[in-house]
Amino acid sequence: MSSSPPKVPFVNLSLQHQPIASQISETIAKIIDRGDFILGRALAEFETAFATASGVKYGVGVACGTDAIGLGLQACGINPGDEVLIPANTFVATIIGVIQAKAIPILVDCDPETALIDLTAAAAAITSKTKAIIPVHLYGQMVSPLELLDFAKCYDLIIFEDAAQAHLAEKEGYRAGSFGKAAAFSFYPSKNLGSFGDGGMLITNDREIAEKVRTLRNYGAPSKYLHSEIGTNSRLDNLQAAVLNVKLPYLETWNRDRNLAAQHYDTLLEPLKYQGIVPIANRSGSGHIYHLYVIRIAEKSAIDRHTLQQQLAREGIQTGIHYPVPCHLQPAYQSLGKPGDFPHAETLCRQILSLPIYPGLSNTQIELVVRAIERSLNW
Ligand SMILES: *Cc1c(COP(=O)(O)O)cnc(C)c1O
Repeated sequence: MSSSPPKVPFVNLSLQHQPIASQISETIAKIIDRGDFILGRALAEFETAFATASGVKYGVGVACGTDAIGLGLQACGINPGDEVLIPANTFVATIIGVIQAKAIPILVDCDPETALIDLTAAAAAITSKTKAIIPVHLYGQMVSPLELLDFAKCYDLIIFEDAAQAHLAEKEGYRAGSFGKAAAFSFYPSKNLGSFGDGGMLITNDREIAEKVRTLRNYGAPSKYLHSEIGTNSRLDNLQAAVLNVKLPYLETWNRDRNLAAQHYDTLLEPLKYQGIVPIANRSGSGHIYHLYVIRIAEKSAIDRHTLQQQLAREGIQTGIHYPVPCHLQPAYQSLGKPGDFPHAETLCRQILSLPIYPGLSNTQIELVVRAIERSLNW
């Protein structure tokens, strides 16, 4: 690792925070003055604002995206022992949420071009115990709502969206989180909408599901001193909600900036497809919000991923891998599958590389990244 700062860091949150720093400080100061820390006014405001922006009626802030999945599934009537279909190439938090709800995660392979859950593979995994499917809107691209609604109707399944990477993404006229029975979001700092710590939200059009999560997140208490459920303590901090209230109005612009950056990458990378460098396919046009910009380095390419990543690092360009090991090959989740069970997911995990993308990333920086990839290929 070189000691000078990277020319193109993988993420740069200060670019989005600096212009709104004084607004954020003022809001935080107000909350400290009021001593309004738990289940406060800013939280209620943010719940309404984020649900409305996503095209649904109710939002319930929780401690993190993982809890939004776990508590959300429980509120949707997923019972212990129910099977829930999820893509094998998701972030492990999807699995943890399912296990929190005492349900059984059933992994399913993905489409090799979009990296999204493959519904043909999902259909083949259905048993008499299958109760729900969790489409993960991976990298900021939505799984087709129309295909999912058809699928869920055909097999009588609940759709629970993992929209942790897809704040305000759109496809076929639906916003992420608006077409399933309920959906989970994360406000982890580097997500497209991030807080200054952990945070999450469950959104839904179903009042009962919203009320149930409201109860579960607050010691199982629908009102003070009444504990109708065991529940847990999982609330979105009022301070975090206040930060998110300041940031939410900028989200559409930030998402648009990411989309423009992705288009620039697409154009510059186009000629490299003959050398085995292929971006994950975008089937959503401008509705893709590019939480991540991911390329595949095909086996026929002149370079392997590890070498490419190292050479980019040497030129001051940071990259990431989301994710290097599919869930069923992680030590904790070996019961969910064995090597070879999900071939597309396994191949993708070996081939993918995430390039820097964030609001404020300049075209010059994007050109720097692509030129460096070109040089590595022609080494
Ligand atoms: C970030 C993420 C989560 C979990 O969110 P946390 O807030 O970190 O708990 C779940 N699923 C996916 C796909 C994610 O990217």
